[in-house]
Amino acid sequence: MASKTQIYKEILREYDALRTEEAAQLRQRREAIYRRLPRLREIEDELAMLGIQTAKLVLQKPAQIAQAAQQLQTAQKNLQAERLQILEDAGLSPKVLEMEYHCTKCQDTGYIGNTPCVCLKRRVMDRIYDQSNVRRIIKQENFDNFDLRLYSDKVSKKEGISPRENATHILRQSLAFVENFPESGENLLLYGATGLGKTFVCSCIAKELLEQGYVVLYLSAGQLFRKLEEIRFSKEEDPEREEWDSEILDADLLIIDDLGTEFATLFTTSELFRLLNDRKLQNKSVIISTNLAPEQITNQYSDRVTSRLQEYKVLKFFGEDIRVMKKYGQSIEKESYHS
Ligand SMILES: [Zn+2]
Repeated sequence: MASKTQIYKEILREYDALRTEEAAQLRQRREAIYRRLPRLREIEDELAMLGIQTAKLVLQKPAQIAQAAQQLQTAQKNLQAERLQILEDAGLSPKVLEMEYHCTKCQDTGYIGNTPCVCLKRRVMDRIYDQSNVRRIIKQENFDNFDLRLYSDKVSKKEGISPRENATHILRQSLAFVENFPESGENLLLYGATGLGKTFVCSCIAKELLEQGYVVLYLSAGQLFRKLEEIRFSKEEDPEREEWDSEILDADLLIIDDLGTEFATLFTTSELFRLLNDRKLQNKSVIISTNLAPEQITNQYSDRVTSRLQEYKVLKFFGEDIRVMKKYGQSIEKESYHS
């Protein structure tokens, strides 16, 4: 396992490479445009000359500086206006002569002043807790294709409402969670059998918040505990080991998918409590999805974990496996039509 310093160094090198690449692309772009519109090259040279003259101003007598500066500024403005006009006439955006950054916030440096940019935090997180899978999933799964028709509209005797009504309620609660994020500091516990859309809802929320610029860490319970174990029991001497899991606490939203499917030990129980507790102290949200009913959670983990989870908003999923419906195209509507 590479140390955190190594990972940061590696990533900052990637940013350097990225900027070098972008600068090379800009040079190529400029060359191509200047060949087509030679006046633009002259303008750039003239602007560079004006820059040198401006720098030399300080060497002049104070009385002359103000007037000379004014003249230089006017000349500069005229050249810039002319350049803009030439580009416009050629149907080009003024941006073609500028650097094109992946992240405009930090201009691909990873930092805004001394503060790490969101894009840097995400890269670190991606590196430590492989998130590439998540990006793939959330491409397909988002609120736009939340299909309520997959849920039956027959009222469940046990629950008193139909799975579809229930799914509508869950959809509303999930949208409210996104809307009130992060101020509400709300936590969600999604529970119910496999194949009812829990992971789907997690992905929808993750996608929305990632697009809004939040740092979202999305892990299956198995991944999460494996990583924590790796960190805690690493034999390597790493002075930063204590800070290794700071990303887990630092993320704006932590999603733990499929809690209860991992191999539960004393270690996982105490780590889970520590995590939930630390995030609560920082007023940072957690979403947990699980197949376990609340009483099973108490059995598998501890009363301490259960007491933390009591503060979570519970969204219970029930009904038939919607993945089967999707796969075989047996829309429930068709079914109820025939019966
Ligand atoms: Zn950035």
